[in-house]
Amino acid sequence: MATPMSQHQPCPLLTKLPSELRIRIYEDVLRFDNPIKLRQHVPGSESTTILRCNRQIYHEALAVLYDVNIVSVSRNDFCAKTTSALQTPILAQHVKHLRFTRFSESIACNFLLDRCSVCQSDAKGLVELLEHGMPMLKSVTIDYSTQINAFLQFKDLVSQGGTNTTVDCINIGVYRVRADRLDDLDFTFRHRPLASCWPAIVRLSSMDISQQEKDERLVPLRAADPDVPDKLWLLFCADKYGQLGQLCNDNTVEAWRTEPWLSGSHDEQRSNTLHELTLAVQHFMKTHTAVQCRRYLTSQITEVFG
Ligand SMILES: [Zn+2]
Repeated sequence: MATPMSQHQPCPLLTKLPSELRIRIYEDVLRFDNPIKLRQHVPGSESTTILRCNRQIYHEALAVLYDVNIVSVSRNDFCAKTTSALQTPILAQHVKHLRFTRFSESIACNFLLDRCSVCQSDAKGLVELLEHGMPMLKSVTIDYSTQINAFLQFKDLVSQGGTNTTVDCINIGVYRVRADRLDDLDFTFRHRPLASCWPAIVRLSSMDISQQEKDERLVPLRAADPDVPDKLWLLFCADKYGQLGQLCNDNTVEAWRTEPWLSGSHDEQRSNTLHELTLAVQHFMKTHTAVQCRRYLTSQITEVFG
C-alpha cells in the first residue's frame, strides 16, 4: 500500500548527518568562483536546487550561500525610485559580502533631477544602508573604474560633510571608507583593473631576472587584462631608465619616487601621496592606449627614451 502524502519519510540528510557535515556539504555545493548575481542563472547553479528541498535545509543552506559567496549588485538594487521587479532580491539580514560592479546611479534616477538618497552624489542613503541595514555585512567593494569622476565627487563630498566618515587611499586604486559604525566592515572603493594589476607589476619590476624573462611573465597578465599591464609596465620601465618625467608631470615623478607602497606606513601623508599617484596613473591610462605603450615596450627602451 502506498505511503500517504502526509507521512513522508524523514530526510536522511537531516536525520543521519550532524549539522557540521551538512554545512560542509552546503559549502561544497553552493560555493561559486565568481560573485553571484541573484535571480540570474549562475553557471553550474543547478546545485542551488538544494535550497528547495525543504524548509529546514532552505534556512541552513541559505545562510551558507551568503556566507561563502560575494553578491554582485549595483546602486540600482537599492534605489528608492526603481521598481522592485528590476532589483536584485537581496536578503538584507543574511548578506555578508557585496560587490558593486559600478558606481553609477540607477537608470531611473539618471533621468531625474531629484534623485533618491542612494543615487545622490554623496551616496548618503547607500552608506546609511550599509551601516545600519545589513547586520551581517562584512565586506563591500565598489568598482569605480567606469565612474572615476563620480567617485571623486563622492570622496570630496564625504570629506567636506562634517561627519566622521573618511575615504583614504590605502594603495594604488584602492580607497577605504571608515566611519564610527563601520569598524567591523571592510568597505573599499577600487579601480578594479588597476588595483588588480598593480601588485603583479610591482612584483615583476622588483624581480632579479632578465628583461626577456620579464616580458614572458607579462604574457599571462595580458591574457587576464589586455589593457592595463602594458600601460603600467611602461611607467615602471620609464622610471627604471630615469625617463618618467617624459610621461608624467613633476609632482607625479616626485610622488612615484617616494615609493609609498613599500614604506608600510599608514599616515595621512602616505594616503595623500597614494591618492595623487592613483590620479596620475588613472590619467595616464586614460590618455594612452595599450597599443601605444606596447609599441614603446617592444622597441629598445633606451632608444625610445633616448
Ligand atoms: Zn535612486
